[in-house]
Amino acid sequence: MSDWQRILKDESIATLDKLHEKFGDAIDVEALKPAFENFQMRLTPSALNAIKEVGDPMWQQYIPTVEELDVVDGVIDSLDEDGDSPVPNITHRYPDRALFLVSPVCASYCRFCTRRRKVGDPEKIPLNQYDSAFEYLRQHTEIRDVIMSGGDPMMLSDRRLEYLFQQLRAIPHIEIIRIGSRITSHLPERITPEFCEMVQKYHPIFMNVHFNHPDELTPAAVAALDRLSRAGVSLGCQTVLLKGVNDDPKVMMKLMHELLKARVRPYYIFMADQVAGGEHFRTTVQKGLEIIQALRGWTSGMAVPQFVIDSPGGGGKVPLLPEYVEEINEDEVVFRNYEGKRFTYKQPKRVPAAEPLPAVAAESDVVPILRGKRAKKEGAVRQKRRKASGE
Ligand code: SF4
Repeated sequence: MSDWQRILKDESIATLDKLHEKFGDAIDVEALKPAFENFQMRLTPSALNAIKEVGDPMWQQYIPTVEELDVVDGVIDSLDEDGDSPVPNITHRYPDRALFLVSPVCASYCRFCTRRRKVGDPEKIPLNQYDSAFEYLRQHTEIRDVIMSGGDPMMLSDRRLEYLFQQLRAIPHIEIIRIGSRITSHLPERITPEFCEMVQKYHPIFMNVHFNHPDELTPAAVAALDRLSRAGVSLGCQTVLLKGVNDDPKVMMKLMHELLKARVRPYYIFMADQVAGGEHFRTTVQKGLEIIQALRGWTSGMAVPQFVIDSPGGGGKVPLLPEYVEEINEDEVVFRNYEGKRFTYKQPKRVPAAEPLPAVAAESDVVPILRGKRAKKEGAVRQKRRKASGE
């Protein structure tokens, strides 16, 4: 057993009794009982040490509460990932990339998890059904980017991870391998020198880490991120906007700064999904826009991730931006900057009447991706127009 497996097994807390031992009378055991009877919990030493007091942002992310039993308008599979799953463990929603669920478990369990319907249950993310997934990926030559997720892929042994990397690298059209993992915050010990040596054989490998609060960037987590960077793994961070945890521009600004200092590029801030049992974590979209407005212009652009909603029902990620443009016409664009000051940008004179923007969707459930002959035809028409206008 490696060190990280031993830490996970022997030093994590998974029961209410252990939690009581640790926090004593600061917790109300009777009030927590129904939650512990219904939900799985595990806290690694790192996650536990990040909790400064009962009820703080770290506590809220991991300790179950009875509010999880309240299902208001959340749904079990809020993103309809199962609806876009052609074979077990694969979700293929976007044109050139696929999600590959490779692990059913995580080091610690987050209360707001979108995949809580599956995570923690090895039967729902079966490890013995990789073959049909590889076959699907081999046959679909349009897939150039595979996102390994779960659960947390970094809970697998190096041997199994290497097997997955080898299989994926044997498929010529797969250019990018991504790992979605919260391990650098939950169990930084997992980023071992052996893993760092092994992973270098399979580049380009990207890891989307997951941090929601600046307190999660402990010295151990930062050291693990450093090891990954030195091994050439490109790091981006996905953050979930959570009520009572990080729904505050100052907290988000600090988080983004700490990530950049650890050489992690902030990638997404997600609206919390409408997942059953996660209602109490949701805040308004306006709050997310307010946070983006407090970042954009006020700090380096590198510290400003995209703010997105993952469309309920499986429509994919949609970026949301505060309103900067006030007016746009053939002559000019009027907009406001980050301080609210108004500016005008003159449109170029020689351009004929602006082409209408491509229809977002003729039908609400159709995404206009131009392919093959139609794409070529539309390209030729555009070129002809440009020639006629002397461009
Ligand atoms: S680490 Fe990710 S997959 Fe695991 S419980 Fe947390 S949010 Fe869910």
